[in-house]
Parts: sequence; structure tokens; C-alpha cells
Amino acid sequence: MGPRWGGTRATRLTALTLATYGDRCHLCGKHGATTADHLVPRSRGGDDAIENLRPAHVACNSMRGSMPIEEWRRKHPIYEQKCSASRKW
Ligand SMILES: [Zn+2]
Repeated sequence: MGPRWGGTRATRLTALTLATYGDRCHLCGKHGATTADHLVPRSRGGDDAIENLRPAHVACNSMRGSMPIEEWRRKHPIYEQKCSASRKW
């Protein structure tokens, strides 16, 4: 296992995650994410590679805990916006 998640290292990886993926929370689909969440939780063998990190809100991140992402997505489906064209009435 790598070093513990925390301190300046976590801050740096969080900044990298937000720079790479933007601020859209991968757990709820809304913008404004400020933390990095592990797709595969560290407690389940996930590492701190950027491929395993996604932006998430603090609340969403702690709500998910170490739940497998498949389980989270079943419980919290994100409704993708298929068409962003504005509708005029
Ligand atoms: Zn969220």
C-alpha cells in the first residue's frame, strides 16, 4: 500500500483531479466538487493514480464512504443531459 491519504499529498492529488476532470461530482453529476474520491476505495485496494480519482463533493464523498462505485451508481443514478440545447417556449 502507498502512503496514507492526507496532508499535502492529498491536497496536491485533489488539485490534479479537479484540473484533469473538472469540478463535476462523479457521484451526483453536479458541479462544485472540491474533493477527490477514489473510484476503487483505498480500503478495497484502490490506489492514488489519477485514473482512480474523480471529483466529488465533500458530502457525496463521505456519504459514499467505501461503497463500491457500482453499488453507488445503482442507488444514485445520474441522469445525463443528452441534449443541452436550450428550449424556448
Ligand atoms: Zn456530488
